[in-house]
Amino acid sequence: MSEAVAKGKEYIAKRMPWRIMRYYFYAIVTVFSLILPWIQINGNHFFLLSFDKLKLHLAFVQFDMQEMYLMPFLLMILFIGIFGMTVLGGRVFCGWMCPQTIFRVIYRDFIETKLLKLRKRIKNKQQEPDMSKAENKVKKVIAVTIWTLLSFLAASNLMWFFVSPYDFVDYMMNPSEHMVLVRTILGTVVFLLYDVIILKENFCIYVCPYSRVQSVLYDDDTIMAIYDPHRGGKIYDDNKEKMFTKQKELQAVETNAECTTCESCVTVCPTHIDIRQGLQLECINCLECVDACTTVMGKLGKESLVRWSSDKEVLHQKGKTHYFRPKILGYIAILLVITVILGLMGSTKEHMLLNINKETRLYSVKKTYEGDIRVDNAYVFLLQNTLNEDHEYYFDVIVPEGMEGKIKIVKPSKSFVAKPGVKKKKIVVLRTTELLVKDTRKDTVIPITIKAYALDDKENIVVTRQSTFTFPRYDVIEKVK
Ligand code: SF4
Ligand code: SF4
Repeated sequence: MSEAVAKGKEYIAKRMPWRIMRYYFYAIVTVFSLILPWIQINGNHFFLLSFDKLKLHLAFVQFDMQEMYLMPFLLMILFIGIFGMTVLGGRVFCGWMCPQTIFRVIYRDFIETKLLKLRKRIKNKQQEPDMSKAENKVKKVIAVTIWTLLSFLAASNLMWFFVSPYDFVDYMMNPSEHMVLVRTILGTVVFLLYDVIILKENFCIYVCPYSRVQSVLYDDDTIMAIYDPHRGGKIYDDNKEKMFTKQKELQAVETNAECTTCESCVTVCPTHIDIRQGLQLECINCLECVDACTTVMGKLGKESLVRWSSDKEVLHQKGKTHYFRPKILGYIAILLVITVILGLMGSTKEHMLLNINKETRLYSVKKTYEGDIRVDNAYVFLLQNTLNEDHEYYFDVIVPEGMEGKIKIVKPSKSFVAKPGVKKKKIVVLRTTELLVKDTRKDTVIPITIKAYALDDKENIVVTRQSTFTFPRYDVIEKVK
């Protein structure tokens, strides 16, 4: 075995092809997205933005829609995370995680190429199947049928992040009663059929807004698929016009140019671009071109001309890529801060919602049969049980020092049950039969604290709210006496 061939084999064997690594990654992402919605802890999901129950489940904690203050933090994490990831690895999300890319790989590479042999070679994504053959037409129908079935699974999987999968199964038992859900699934399936079979990578090139914004985030250290013109030779001029199609022509101008002009990196590209032209919006960072050139150059005992690297390393040849640069550290720091804030806000979540509104009439003063004076203040309490099961609730009133036991709750006289998610309106009346204050000039506003709690878990299912009790001027009391 010649030294070059041995060296070439070494280059090829140096690592698993990116394509195979991506397949493993896709499998992990797919299994994860299919299983995650089914996992519950105390009836709560990891992520569920429930449209039917108006709840947000996050990290196995349930929040009511009134607690949507967490949503901006989630969106910030999402956007800053994607921006940070783009600065570090270009369109790495597109190539490795985006459902569009995964669906296209399943349909084109697995169903059409491997399973049905409708396409000839996985390494030639530019060559469309010859649809004039009857056999290929049958295969196409089978491919579309398989993809239609998978689209139903994908559409249902998507819904499980908006409707609990357990409820989803129940709803699907009576589809006529859940037509919004049924129509959403059918709409998603139609979109997936059009997108994956007809629109294809044109979605990534023309529709996806991410491809428009990502290039402004790049810097010289951003890693992406890059052709090395210093070794391979300059194939395109500054106006992006192709100058050479044959190695002989290229080597006539650049004697040491290594590119064989085999175009393997071009035919394998799912977005139909030539990476030798330099950075292009259409590149989804799938690294298929890197694999293709690794094989071609490996056979010649050389390293790939297309690498997953940075402009700094390949084009400008200014040394190693700087991964942990200030920009990236800044993104990590911001993400950590927002995550900590989100965690703190999530952990201080209240297990019930309570709004207290005082009635417009400040108080009522009456004389009792026993001849005492009683002063009542009335309130409207709006309580919502944000937990998953029924609880029995009651209230306590906490008064300033010296007034203990002098203001009592007279209505409701006993505890009541609140069902999960249901808002309960309660008229609450506080009463005193004591002369709390003797002020002849004005009414006295006494600060009080209302404590609402579940009888079966007073320690944890409890909220407190500040309010006031208004005690009348002394002449008002005198008049009633
Ligand atoms: S140039 Fe094409 S094959 Fe290469 S990474 Fe970009 S999209 Fe993939
Ligand atoms: S695969 Fe490599 S050698 Fe072949 S055309 Fe592309 S860059 Fe040149």
